[in-house]
Amino acid sequence: MAKVEKCSFCGRAKKEVPILLTGIDGYICSDCIERAADMLDELLKNDKKKGEGGFNMKKSELPKPLEIKEFLDQYVIGQDVAKKILSVAVYNHYKRLMQTKDDDDVEIEKSNIIMVGSTGTGKTLLAKTIAKLLKVPFTIVDATVLTEAGYVGEDIESILTRLLQVADYNVEAAQRGIVFIDEIDKIARKSDNPSITRDVSGEGVQQGLLKLLEGSVVNVPPQGGRKHPDQKMIPVDTKNILFICGGAFDGIERRIANRLNTKVVGYAASKDMERIDTANLLQYVTPQDLKSFGLIPEIIGRLPMLSYLNPLDREALRRILTEPKNSIIKQYVKLFAMDGIELTFDEEVFEFVVDTAVEFKLGARGLRSIVEMIMIDVMFEMPSAKDKKLHITLEYAKSKLQKVNLERLKVA
Ligand code: ADP
Repeated sequence: MAKVEKCSFCGRAKKEVPILLTGIDGYICSDCIERAADMLDELLKNDKKKGEGGFNMKKSELPKPLEIKEFLDQYVIGQDVAKKILSVAVYNHYKRLMQTKDDDDVEIEKSNIIMVGSTGTGKTLLAKTIAKLLKVPFTIVDATVLTEAGYVGEDIESILTRLLQVADYNVEAAQRGIVFIDEIDKIARKSDNPSITRDVSGEGVQQGLLKLLEGSVVNVPPQGGRKHPDQKMIPVDTKNILFICGGAFDGIERRIANRLNTKVVGYAASKDMERIDTANLLQYVTPQDLKSFGLIPEIIGRLPMLSYLNPLDREALRRILTEPKNSIIKQYVKLFAMDGIELTFDEEVFEFVVDTAVEFKLGARGLRSIVEMIMIDVMFEMPSAKDKKLHITLEYAKSKLQKVNLERLKVA
């Protein structure tokens, strides 16, 4: 069947338009080309404006470290040390973006961050919350999907592809963005001794990452995926991109303990060890421990701000349930309010949820699952019911949880 020659955008036939151009699978008329060009101009202008957000911020508008921390406090419970370090790093990041070349010879270098903390203690939440506050592009990537070029998985450059995408391909804006690299511990080499085996998944990726962390111009495939000979690369300078890395570093406590033990031998040993809080060894983490875990020294050197997250105790879990600005309970209240229903809880329900999370070692993530199980039936029924008030009692909460197997929620 002969193809009808009409514009694939406005649908007008060839004789209705001034000029009709032919593509592989379609046509475009000169009117649509003009309109598209105008739209493109507009979009690029907007992008530029958006991108300038971070840069052109006046010094007086710059959120101070204390204000950044106060903002984080609204969403993240505890973790004061990590919050402080993040606040200072982000504040300095802004300052670095503001510095003008002709000031003097002092150039503020970026200081990337690494956060060590068990899974579910708030690393990603901290990074996401920082992103809310910032007017620079921000993305989260998972280090486990990264592989050395040529292996199955994503090339290191894909990190920058994502940043470009959230910056709507505004390279200038992406170049001063923030990247959160999660699960950085998963690319640790398997042994502290580099000569034992070639470890493509770990050390190779670290070497690749190093290039990004230290600041260099990287050719980025705009659509991600494998490098394609025909794909036009976008050069991105990583000099001003702030990298925040996070990882659980399972088992690092043992290395910390070993180091602390061996350091304090002899006369003063017993006294020194007494002062060590063995319940939370992460607070003593040093770059040396990261090295012994399998991060290469060059990477550690490029992550000068080392911070840790505390394990969440019962009290922290209780606060997490109701206090943060978008706590789980507040979210449920809002969900019901949208149906015109006023939702309230017995105070004991909260205690029960927290006790259950502690008993089954479900952590903060488990809180949501538990509340979900309690609420699923009323979530299903209430929108069709006439009642405009709903009160959840301890008895009701207990009856809902009795039937479910909480063991399966345990984090592996
Ligand atoms: P991870 O440390 O593994 O990155 P997340 O930040 O993803 O952990 O935490 C998982 C969830 O648990 C969060 O989405 C949040 O709901 C809750 N959570 C964990 N830690 C905290 C905290 N300190 N304050 C408030 N909520 C928290």
